[in-house]
Amino acid sequence: MSMEVKVQSKKVVPTHTQAELHIGGMDCAECAKGIETRLSQLEGVRQVQVLLGAEKGLVTYDPQRVRPEQMTTTISAMGYQARVVGVDDRERDRDFASLANGIRLVFLAVVGLLALLEILAEKFGLADAALTWVPAPIALGAVLIGGYPIFKSALLGLRARSVNVDLLMAIGIVAAASIGEFISAALLVLFIQVAHFLEGFTTDRARGAIRELIALAPTTARVERDGEDIEIALDDLRVGDVVVIRPGEKIPADGVVLSGRSAVNQAPITGESIPVEKGAGAQVFAATLNELGSLRVRAERVGAETTLGRIIRMVERAESAKAPVQRFADRFTAYFLPVVAGAALLTLLISRNLIFTIAVLVVACPCAVALATPLSVVASVGSAARRGLLIKGGLYLEALAKVDVLLMDKTGTLTLGEPRITEILPSEGGDLDGDGILSLAAGVERYSEHVLASAVLAEARRRGLSIPEPDDFSAVPGMGVQAAVEGTSVWLGNRELLAAEGMPVGPEMDAAAAKLEQQGKTALFLARDGRVQGLLAVSDVLRPEVPRAIETLRSMGVRHLLLLTGDNERTAAEVARQLKVEYRAGLLPEDKIEVVRALQAQGHTVAMVGDGVNDAPALAQADVGIAMGAAGTDVALEAADVALMGDDWGRLPEAIRIGRRAFHTIKQNIAFGVIFNIVGIGLASVGILTPVLAAAAESLPDVAVFLNSSRLLRPPRT
Ligand code: ADP
Ligand code: MG
Repeated sequence: MSMEVKVQSKKVVPTHTQAELHIGGMDCAECAKGIETRLSQLEGVRQVQVLLGAEKGLVTYDPQRVRPEQMTTTISAMGYQARVVGVDDRERDRDFASLANGIRLVFLAVVGLLALLEILAEKFGLADAALTWVPAPIALGAVLIGGYPIFKSALLGLRARSVNVDLLMAIGIVAAASIGEFISAALLVLFIQVAHFLEGFTTDRARGAIRELIALAPTTARVERDGEDIEIALDDLRVGDVVVIRPGEKIPADGVVLSGRSAVNQAPITGESIPVEKGAGAQVFAATLNELGSLRVRAERVGAETTLGRIIRMVERAESAKAPVQRFADRFTAYFLPVVAGAALLTLLISRNLIFTIAVLVVACPCAVALATPLSVVASVGSAARRGLLIKGGLYLEALAKVDVLLMDKTGTLTLGEPRITEILPSEGGDLDGDGILSLAAGVERYSEHVLASAVLAEARRRGLSIPEPDDFSAVPGMGVQAAVEGTSVWLGNRELLAAEGMPVGPEMDAAAAKLEQQGKTALFLARDGRVQGLLAVSDVLRPEVPRAIETLRSMGVRHLLLLTGDNERTAAEVARQLKVEYRAGLLPEDKIEVVRALQAQGHTVAMVGDGVNDAPALAQADVGIAMGAAGTDVALEAADVALMGDDWGRLPEAIRIGRRAFHTIKQNIAFGVIFNIVGIGLASVGILTPVLAAAAESLPDVAVFLNSSRLLRPPRT
């Protein structure tokens, strides 16, 4: 029996969900009617509306009893095409349901109050007044009406051949009523309902983090249509629309600036509070705030496809990447109900007291333990996402909490990733001058995605050189690139690349390169038709915030900081010296994976931070793969376990802090839930805890877990 089932069974009311289906192939009103009828015959379907014109079906249904796929299958079987467009469980039915629930609660509250008065009366010697305050039929009615959701859920559970918490409750209530304790039974129902209400409320609050993310997007967009600006709903915005954004407005889509200049506050996506200057050609993100100027933007991604949309989807799914600690909770909840049933039976056999037995059944509550992890995960992940830090699940929160090794990629990660060509040295006896070398190098790099390639191309463009078209381009990962340019075979890369191709770099060239490398620069050698033609020196600046972030990580107890690079020994040594970290140089991508594996085999929890593009395999091997600057690069966003949307290293210690705090909170929650149950069942079995008190205490752990987890909604203290 899965935990989800139990948590669901404890919801306030089975909330109704609405699915939107696309239905193709309808050509008459009869078809639409037919589909409506068939769908409404499905069990669990409450309401169906088929819109012929829009080719849509809107189905309100009970997610515990029917799935949208059953609807599409039904429709397909009738000869139409159907697929699910979306599911909306931010239910519009909620208001109605909570109204019904509210009435029930008020009713129960009155009964409860009367019952309490009666108990008081009894205490003060007015025992004869018993049952005159609340006549039995009214109490029984209260039990039936108020307890309806509990009984229903218990029966549904039974039909699905599973024992759920509500079944235990129902047995307790029925047992109490059957021995004539109507008032007790009514009070049980009352307190259980209050507990359910609190649970629903708390789970909902934890989801608030996700709702706040959704609320970041504006609801309308102003688009240019036939030379006029018109305001449309965000849902109607299409890729290719030209959007006009005025000062102080939010950008409605991911896109490219066509004209205008402005400062854009990207905090909702990247977490960076300082606005970024944007002009023609710049990339902008949905939900970011245009501060001063006006911008015209061509929408390239809208709705769920935007960076914000992806973030929301990943946060919503974060619960499914379960932390190992949750396995304990899952095992606990799986064994919980049989154990409680056993304990109740034992109590009955030993004490022969039905009241004690009822108390045992009622006090038992695995929900706090079941909710401990998901609530903390949703709260942590949701609040982190709002600060430009995407953590893809409980699994990674726990791994972050335990990280003791941090591996760092150099190019583009520790460095700004905006390398510049600083020197070009033609070799003696070569037949190319500086510009010739650069132009040829730019030709080979034309289709490379490496950061070094962009440096070469940028310099060639800056000098106004022509960039030849390469044929048969291929990249040698961790070493360089090769292509046929203007009928010649050209190689560009490190020493190893040329050596492997049988074109060793001469001693003179090697000495010149060594000197540049000692300054932390990277030397790229160019060879044409088997002859080394010269070298280009590339310099990339360290990110200014890196030294401090590394200091912080060290002080937090991340013991091993190791720089991994495919660059040469001397360049790596220079960067490592500046940061006071260890290094391993000359690594091919597969060597990096090996390093990660070796450290894991020694029992370390390894985090690896990279740019996410050419480091993807090592990021995947690490316990936590962290990608920098993920906003705008899909690969990084998808491949990493943790994505820093911006480029700020300061976020890395914060991620670890969030992980540690969440893990700590989860452990506290679980411990509290387990202890509460053991103590509660113990006290109930010997009659210290009466059924009514037990029912009153039942919601205690849930509230405690909620309060504890909701602290995670706030940013961690530094
Ligand atoms: P890092 O591990 O620092 O990110 P890479 O593994 O991407 O570095 O590359 C390692 C080395 O291989 C670089 O320092 C460079 O010498 C060479 N190299 C890789 N790709 C290219 C390229 N596109 N052009 C030139 N040299 C390259
Ligand atoms: Mg790299």
